[in-house]
Amino acid sequence: MKELNHSEKIKYTKMIKPYGHKYCSMCHMSKQLQYFTKAGRGCKSCVSEYHKQYRKANKEKYQKYHKEYHKKWYTNNKEKKQEQNRQWMEANKEKFQDYLKEDYHQRPEVKEKKRLARALRRSKSEVPLTPREKRWIESIYKRASIMTRLFGEPYEVDHIFPIATGGKRIPINLQVLPRRENRRKKDNI
Ligand SMILES: [Zn+2]
Repeated sequence: MKELNHSEKIKYTKMIKPYGHKYCSMCHMSKQLQYFTKAGRGCKSCVSEYHKQYRKANKEKYQKYHKEYHKKWYTNNKEKKQEQNRQWMEANKEKFQDYLKEDYHQRPEVKEKKRLARALRRSKSEVPLTPREKRWIESIYKRASIMTRLFGEPYEVDHIFPIATGGKRIPINLQVLPRRENRRKKDNI
């Protein structure tokens, strides 16, 4: 927006406007009617720029206003909002849980925590093994991966006596199970 002095303003306002044009008092240009809103004397871009600047200058005021408005709305419609939230959760239960699960597992601090816990559990369950027993365990893990590829369903190596209840990491305590069975077993402990 360029500033004009008084005489220039008069000159521009006296300018002959082409048919279907309107004079914008903010940028002092004649523009087609489509560039104006029904109300107001400024063209659309000038008005939107004006509002933008105003919001920028009164940022705190605006933020305060919005905050208070939402707070007030929430206190007035508390039950309604809670009911809405509950319904949304109900409708998107699986999606929501999946989302939470995924997100939670992706957090680095959670990953590290789990890694440490796993290492601790493993160290408790580990007993000295002969080379033959080590190869045996390797072959069990290999079998799980082969079965996963063959049956198109994840298979896992399971401890028959769980490590949590004092089970050891020895070949005769290991078995290959589909992941869903393994999860079910873990849930029952
Ligand atoms: Zn304008």
